[in-house]
Amino acid sequence: MSSDLIFKSAAELAALLETGQVSSVELTQAFIDRRRAVDDRVKAFNSFDETDALAQARASDARRAGGEMRGALEGIPVGLKDVIAVAGQPLTCSSRMLANFVSPYDATVAARLKSAGAILWGRLNMDEFAMGSSTENSAFQTTSNPWDLERVPGGSSGGPAAALAAGEVPLALGSDTGGSIRQPASFCGVVGFKPTYGLVSRYGLVAFASSLDQIGPFARTVEDAALLLGAIGGHDPLDSTSYPAAIPDYRAEIKKHRGPWKLGVPKEYFGPGLNAEVAGAVRAAIEFYQGAGCEIREVSLPVAAEYAIATYYIIATAEASSNLARYDGVRYGHRSKEGSDAIDLYFKSRAEGFGPEVKRRIILGTYVLSSGYYDAFYLRAQKVRTLIRQDFLNAYREVDALLAPVAPTAAFKKGEKSSDPLAMYLSDIYTISLNLAGLPGISIPCGFTREGLPIGLQIIGQPFQEAGLLAIARAYEQAHGWNGMNPKL
Ligand code: GLN
Repeated sequence: MSSDLIFKSAAELAALLETGQVSSVELTQAFIDRRRAVDDRVKAFNSFDETDALAQARASDARRAGGEMRGALEGIPVGLKDVIAVAGQPLTCSSRMLANFVSPYDATVAARLKSAGAILWGRLNMDEFAMGSSTENSAFQTTSNPWDLERVPGGSSGGPAAALAAGEVPLALGSDTGGSIRQPASFCGVVGFKPTYGLVSRYGLVAFASSLDQIGPFARTVEDAALLLGAIGGHDPLDSTSYPAAIPDYRAEIKKHRGPWKLGVPKEYFGPGLNAEVAGAVRAAIEFYQGAGCEIREVSLPVAAEYAIATYYIIATAEASSNLARYDGVRYGHRSKEGSDAIDLYFKSRAEGFGPEVKRRIILGTYVLSSGYYDAFYLRAQKVRTLIRQDFLNAYREVDALLAPVAPTAAFKKGEKSSDPLAMYLSDIYTISLNLAGLPGISIPCGFTREGLPIGLQIIGQPFQEAGLLAIARAYEQAHGWNGMNPKL
């Protein structure tokens, strides 16, 4: 029974729960058993609490029996990237700095999952403080790609993507600052969705770059992503950048958008650097839409294509250097045993607590904010950011959404880029501009390489038009069977 459950969509699991064919305890046990069977190879979980998960499941079954169901996720386990606070659970950001930290409160998304009836199952691995594209920057372990254990799952949300692909969770939440939901989703062959900035509360998400960070769903299907987004999204007075409007019922809403759509293809995204097999799969997806009656137009994103990476690594590092200043070993985080006075204690605590990539970002961010360089780098980057957003808004005068690759290649080998930060940074070239522009984007499976590695299609939407974007993604998904394919572990 349990092996039948682990690769089912959340919508299918909800139906089984509803008809009483399975209980939440049985379901949760199936994912617990799966983690036990495969996670010594996948290494997606930083921590987990089987007893607590089963207690949550028993409580859910009791609510169902009493006719007091909470919401759309009643009884369904959801894994969380280890950057999202859950009261009483470890919150490490895969950093030595927070290795022993236990969150005293719930993130808004965690509270909303609970009020939707979900079972919070597991803390999932990531690059330290969400900085990276391979999960190799975790201070604790490197997660493997379930399709090929020698390869990375992508990052920084590699744990959530790998846990989902391996059948250890049916749904998960990640965070995306420059591509960290979409790129690992494409590497692991699952759906990953970064909502419009402001749609999902960041309260209780440990900050990396606050003007770019956004929490979003990982799921097996577009419909499941809609379900999860509906549970976590919407205005939150605890986040001052939260969009103050009601959100629709995305699952119902996506069925109303039937197309045909006008879809843009950014010409700069198909130039040198894009792997031929990835380009082929994405072009085949574009042809599918054309065959389905959509009008396909070439569009141009000149500023985004040229300057997004440079702009991002100024703005993101500037914000990170400020956000990470709080980890001083006194107010927060690892405290060195060596400090001879307060200043020495700060230095040593930070030197011991942070890994090399985090230090690199803090140094770069401090530099671009320093007097004399602020105008030349930070201020200019902010101006370029506005131009990048303008690129997209210009395109949206002609088209409803854009079709693009997610990443230049499929999953790369562990160690292949870890000693070359610039090569690693380039793997975000197609995703990063959306964060700078605040736009929503989804990655859905669109094929495999000859070596059997998943390839993702990125669909980029207009601000707060998530229902339309999900509908476009679903049209492709329904005509293809990629998400029925699972890795053999
Ligand atoms: N890979 C990018 C970085 O290293 C994006 C990370 C993210 O989205 N959290 O910053």
